[in-house]
Amino acid sequence: MQTQISKEILRTPMGKRANEIVRTCVHCGFCLATCPTYQLLGDELDSPRGRIYLIKSSLEDNKFSTDSIKHLDRCLTCQSCETTCPSGVEYGKLVDIGREFIESKRPLWQQLYRYSVRKFLTTPVLFNSVGFLFKHSNIKGRSIKPKNVIGKVLLLGGCVQPTLAPNINHSIKNILSKIGYETIETPQKECCGAIDQHLSDTKEAISKIKYNIDQWLEVGADVIISSASGCGVMVKDYSSMFQKLDPYRQKAQKVASMTVDIAQFLADKDLTQLCLDKKNISYHEPCTLQHGQKLGGLVESILGGLGYDLGVVVDSHICCGSAGTYSIFQPKISKQLKVNKLSHLKASKPEMIVTSNIGCLMHLQKGNNIPVKHWVELLDGK
Ligand code: SF4
Ligand code: SF4
Repeated sequence: MQTQISKEILRTPMGKRANEIVRTCVHCGFCLATCPTYQLLGDELDSPRGRIYLIKSSLEDNKFSTDSIKHLDRCLTCQSCETTCPSGVEYGKLVDIGREFIESKRPLWQQLYRYSVRKFLTTPVLFNSVGFLFKHSNIKGRSIKPKNVIGKVLLLGGCVQPTLAPNINHSIKNILSKIGYETIETPQKECCGAIDQHLSDTKEAISKIKYNIDQWLEVGADVIISSASGCGVMVKDYSSMFQKLDPYRQKAQKVASMTVDIAQFLADKDLTQLCLDKKNISYHEPCTLQHGQKLGGLVESILGGLGYDLGVVVDSHICCGSAGTYSIFQPKISKQLKVNKLSHLKASKPEMIVTSNIGCLMHLQKGNNIPVKHWVELLDGK
């Protein structure tokens, strides 16, 4: 795509990067077929190609209309379009730049609302004062300590997961103990920075990231494990938050190279000694795992190998509508995507739905009578 972005914007790292990305789009439109918002709304401006065009025009004219903001806000940042795109357009990066650019152009009430949600979710003392009311599950069973330690791992505990579903980290620690790993869990205040980044406060995200990098490297673990795919995709991309000469870039690369999703960590381990909770299940693969981390099919192959009967899920590449804070800011579209997703997940009449991300778990459980859990809980017999 040809661009004529102003010299003033091109001089900024953000403008330069956006220009490079927009130019890789060849306008073919293949991405439209796999975009959830285009499927639902049928408007080109609610498609990846339409949004790329909106960002390009806005950077060229140095202004964003209220209508353009609406179409960008409707994007789930699910990255399904990136999986489909034959030209490798880094749409997720581009939309982050577009959003940062528009943040100061939003009406004041929107800025305040977004600020409040961001602070509430990322400040443990605020979140915990209300979060317990939405608790999904309690810790089940006792904690197991490793007998013969063969390695030490750092588990990213998450910012909302310990309050809403503490059994997930409890199960992971038990599983890791059984296969010989000592686990250090990060404290709740060490949020990965994704919420700040997606709500366009890059400065705050970078401040959190720097703090995390210093703390995490200090632990001296062999591996960093993420169990929320939304956090994992962010941490694996930490280095892109720093310029080439920034001393944190190298440290960020180290953290990213040490980070794996729990499925990657368990994929080559002997899991036969685990106490399995065998059920007829449906698996919801989060966008952050399949499109963000490019780990599509991994959890299904682990569960299938352990003898689980997994139902086929139609349109498994389409987002469930959770998408970080999307369900708060775009409730109507989010709800419709959830209804569609649940009908596909329930088609095989499962006893349980399992997933890999706390956001999807909470979203799919609300108003649904089939239990939704993190898949690792099955491996701890819960
Ligand atoms: S990230 Fe998802 S919702 Fe946004 S344009 Fe791409 S496919 Fe559509
Ligand atoms: S598939 Fe890729 S190259 Fe084609 S329109 Fe979409 S983003 Fe552009």
